[in-house]
Amino acid sequence: MLVHRHIGNVDFAVDPSQSFGIYLKKIEDDKLNFSNLKAFIDWILAGTRIPATLQWELLSACNFKCRFCYIVGHTQNTIFSSERAFELIDEFVDAGVVQVILTGGECLIHPNFTAIYEKLRLAGIIVSVYTNLEKLTADQLEIFKRYPPYRIEISIYGHDEDSYERVTGRRAFKQVLQNIEILHNYGFNLLCKTPITTLTKNSIEWIHNWCENRNLEYLADPSIKNGLDGDDLSYFLLKNKEYYSAEKFGLQLEKKLIPSRNLKDGKDRDPSHVFSCGVGKVGAYINYDATLSPCSSIRDRRFNLMKLSFPDAWEQLVNNIQAEESLVISGCNPNCSAKSICKMCPALALRDEQGNYRVNPAYCERQIALAKVLSISS
Ligand code: SF4
Ligand code: SF4
Repeated sequence: MLVHRHIGNVDFAVDPSQSFGIYLKKIEDDKLNFSNLKAFIDWILAGTRIPATLQWELLSACNFKCRFCYIVGHTQNTIFSSERAFELIDEFVDAGVVQVILTGGECLIHPNFTAIYEKLRLAGIIVSVYTNLEKLTADQLEIFKRYPPYRIEISIYGHDEDSYERVTGRRAFKQVLQNIEILHNYGFNLLCKTPITTLTKNSIEWIHNWCENRNLEYLADPSIKNGLDGDDLSYFLLKNKEYYSAEKFGLQLEKKLIPSRNLKDGKDRDPSHVFSCGVGKVGAYINYDATLSPCSSIRDRRFNLMKLSFPDAWEQLVNNIQAEESLVISGCNPNCSAKSICKMCPALALRDEQGNYRVNPAYCERQIALAKVLSISS
């Protein structure tokens, strides 16, 4: 079965029985070769603003209570309305959504996860899933087999039951690893991940080896966000030497995953420019409370999807972003040694009451020290 889509000037069809089954109706250019979803989305956008890629929190609740989590324990447990979710999927199709990444909280425990996932896939939308995988059900496995996800990203939090319980509050180690093996045996595209924190640092080597022995892709990184209610979670952040070597390790894993990626890939992006990333151009973020925001780190701008249609919310978000795109983040040193790894953006910058952005010195200090550890000179 093929689902026909029309986005911008492009007619194409999606085969939901494949994780990335995209067929162009008319081959305009023999050289077109989409090795991955990002390449296809870049091509289809061709400089226009389309919400091609969305990340969608189906709920803020979770079966785990990770002590460094920014959402669980820092929001009221909220579940996205299934009725509105089904309507939204129709609106996504009209607005040109190509890809949806389902997340949470823990998206697999949303009471209608299977139906929402199926509707997305049958609407010709490519879907990825972020999960802790403890609660994978037989129905979910069946729907994944019928309509495979583009990718499933699984967080692994420990190397035995005790370490799992210390981080998540649950002795779920065996169950999670067993579920990963099941998905792996069916050949799904999996990526395992761990946040490197004071609580998980002693498990990283074991988890990395476990993944490597099974030929599973693995990423880890030491960044931590504060709670959505403003709670300071930096207590779980590694400090000094430990932090920098964790950053280095994380970047090495990333480089292994994408060999073409160079540590200086960020060199062309101007860190002093507001919204030089893709938000409001190629996509946005749907919060668990049915609001649309630029990204998971900028949630103070929320466009209410219970009152607005998705295209109207997207239009308001684009206007909001466009109003700031000519602004600069002041205080950036043009000769900074960390420029190539710097991710400065409105979410990391400081902002005064007049709405002016300036770089956050604490962030700069960390990036410059990291550049030194990585031996980057410019
Ligand atoms: S599994 Fe993820 S969403 Fe759930 S508590 Fe842990 S960090 Fe938060
Ligand atoms: S670390 Fe600070 S000074 Fe250096 S490039 Fe980034 S924003 Fe500019």
